[in-house]
Amino acid sequence: MRRPIVVGNWKMNTLLSEASQLVAKLRDNLAGVTEVEVGVCPPFVYLPAVNEALKGSNIGLGAQNVYFQEKGAFTGEVSAAMLKDVGCKYVIIGHSERRTIMAENDDIINKKLKAVLGKGLIPIFCIGETLEQRQEGITERIIRSQIDAGLDGITSDDIAKTVIAYEPVWAIGTGKNATPQQAQEVHLFIRKLIAHITSDIIARDIQIIYGGSVKAENAQDILSQSDIDGALVGGASLDAEAFTRIVQSAKR
Ligand code: PEP
Repeated sequence: MRRPIVVGNWKMNTLLSEASQLVAKLRDNLAGVTEVEVGVCPPFVYLPAVNEALKGSNIGLGAQNVYFQEKGAFTGEVSAAMLKDVGCKYVIIGHSERRTIMAENDDIINKKLKAVLGKGLIPIFCIGETLEQRQEGITERIIRSQIDAGLDGITSDDIAKTVIAYEPVWAIGTGKNATPQQAQEVHLFIRKLIAHITSDIIARDIQIIYGGSVKAENAQDILSQSDIDGALVGGASLDAEAFTRIVQSAKR
């Protein structure tokens, strides 16, 4: 049975005092929640402080990005070992904002996935089509190519440890979310792709989550779909009450 998971992507938001207040509220609100796996991904600079604030809670720490090299002359970059060292459990990889704004391609994403899995961290591997691609009717083709390229050369055992986030680009930060049916269709398609490249058992057990304007108000409808195992939440994760309601909606 797959455990639902809800992860907050804070993006480039919060100052230290705001991050601390947000974590304190989440700790209180989510203290008794065990049925849902919960994570928060603050900006790099607040990872140690948030890690400290999360100690003894049931909320895992995640990073929003990583570099694939082990160490060396890569000014401004952060390695998987460093993220592990400061308490991270999750790392978001392949977010559409990084694919578009930072020009990250499938090859870089594949290297990042390998680096993160190599250090025993859990990648949250983001894929999704643009509005133009959906309108052209090539959503499945895009998803298939992102899965094939992103997971190229990764063992089935490691794929099983990966969380896949389906995030239609047109739904991220736009207030437009995919309908529950649209999201369910793509999630099922992803699960079938995973079955094809690994096994039916891995496909049955892998967590596939939805991201794209998930709010307290629409979470229940989206998260009740059979192949949707939780959410990657951007904007609404900055509001402790909204994020808490989303987590509550993920209970099965
Ligand atoms: C995200 O950043 O992954 C995301 C889904 O953002 P939002 O919830 O704001 O659309």
